[in-house]
Amino acid sequence: MNLYRIEKSNIDRTGRGLYATKDIKKGTKIMDYIGNIITKKQTEVSEKFDNTKPIYLFNLNTRYDLDGDVSWNTARLINHSCSNNCDYEGKGLKLWVIAIKDIKKGEELTCDYGFGYDADYKQFPCKCGSINCVGYIIREGSRWRVNKKFKKTQRANR
Ligand SMILES: [Zn+2]
Repeated sequence: MNLYRIEKSNIDRTGRGLYATKDIKKGTKIMDYIGNIITKKQTEVSEKFDNTKPIYLFNLNTRYDLDGDVSWNTARLINHSCSNNCDYEGKGLKLWVIAIKDIKKGEELTCDYGFGYDADYKQFPCKCGSINCVGYIIREGSRWRVNKKFKKTQRANR
């Protein structure tokens, strides 16, 4: 049985999300993050990755990226949250999603998309609704730039 099921998301109201089908212990590997392994050169020349913040593109090593924007990659449905309960982990050319907190049955699985702070951050509003929400999709370590209540090294939500 999968640890998750696909449902309409509470965070991305126009889209879908993944929900825990049972209690999941912190440290549990939930699913693989799969896609097409492409070279950095392909990434550079592809119009698909014209955006400075490609959500589904992961840096694997100095030569290869992983393009997770494919229909068979269910993990791409995981939404960003400022109090994420999952994170991406990887080794070699493999990526997966791991629980970084104990997750209760019925909770939506969320990750930190890792977007940096830059001039266009306002294009990516965050509607995660968590008490820690900074209002925009920005990685944890950069949220202090948007809201002073976030200290540079705050890790309180982990
Ligand atoms: Zn948020």
